[in-house]
Amino acid sequence: MPAKNEQPLKVLSDAEIDALIITKPENQRYLEGFTGRDCYMLVSSGGNFLIADSRYTEMGEKECKTATVLPYSQPYPPLGDVLASVAKERSFGRVGFERGNITWGDYDNISKRMEDAGVVMMPTSSLIEGMRAKKTPHESAMIGAACQIADRALKDILSQIRPGVSELDIKIELDYHLKTGGAEETAFDTIVLFGARSSQPHANPRRDVYLRKGDLVLIDYGAVKGGYRSDTTRTFVCGKASGEQRSAYEAVLEAQMESIEMVMPGAEAGKVNDRAAGMIKDAGLLAFEHGIGHGVGLEIHELPSLRRGLDTVLESGNVITIEPAMYRPGWGGIRIEDTVLVTDDGHSVLTFFPKELIEL
Ligand code: ZN
Ligand code: ZN
Repeated sequence: MPAKNEQPLKVLSDAEIDALIITKPENQRYLEGFTGRDCYMLVSSGGNFLIADSRYTEMGEKECKTATVLPYSQPYPPLGDVLASVAKERSFGRVGFERGNITWGDYDNISKRMEDAGVVMMPTSSLIEGMRAKKTPHESAMIGAACQIADRALKDILSQIRPGVSELDIKIELDYHLKTGGAEETAFDTIVLFGARSSQPHANPRRDVYLRKGDLVLIDYGAVKGGYRSDTTRTFVCGKASGEQRSAYEAVLEAQMESIEMVMPGAEAGKVNDRAAGMIKDAGLLAFEHGIGHGVGLEIHELPSLRRGLDTVLESGNVITIEPAMYRPGWGGIRIEDTVLVTDDGHSVLTFFPKELIEL
């Protein structure tokens, strides 16, 4: 396997481009360790460059492993001019850009200057994201550490989930425990949903929704450590679970454990998805329509994606979530999610929070 700093060059030559303009902050961080935003990185065999305005020039000099920092400012010198002059000096013919991560305004500005310099702009997608899907041992260790922080934080606040608290109360408490427990930030906006609202997979916690006995409690949350994210969902019942809640919970849990067992190098993402969805349907429940999982790392949703119809094959080093669910509008939803590392001979679950149904 090539060293990490040689990989982008291979990706560039495979895509038949001389250089790549990187606008996604997570890709910049992955390649150069740079943690700023709103900057432009140019990667090429002639070296890497960070084109930054004055907010980020000193930070870029300190953080970037190899990139030369070039300043730009409005009105002069504009971003497009700086990029075009680097391209011209090095006689680049074709320069790629990340099609999903650039505004029309920036593209317009850059492409005009590039055209004047005789450069052809080439749209690319997921070149660096593809590299990021396979984690190094250091990266998976960071995700593991984030998972442990998350496990502890939920344990710490469990006793506070009592009738009368609001969804927002619990979100604030959990976020506080994540951060005081070692998280740099929350992995995404923490989701806390009570009762029938739990059937909306990504609704926002509300200040005016209070927990009542018999409610489902769905919590989807994560921590960030060293820039890397964890992702866990647990569903509880406030008070004693009804027979219907318990049987639905058992069906989702069984599907989740069965699909985790399928996680190994060579497993097809679509098949893992379909197995869990099939088991939940066979139990007479409304199965999830979202994918069963996604890669997780510097971003909360990254490659590989695990969805219906995808023949993507899992490989050792992928870190993914497995999160089957059932959702019935007006009744509620049950989702159980773990973060899982694909290992050479199978998998290793990184989130340890208990999964048997907890009645709070
Ligand atoms: Zn999640
Ligand atoms: Zn997830």
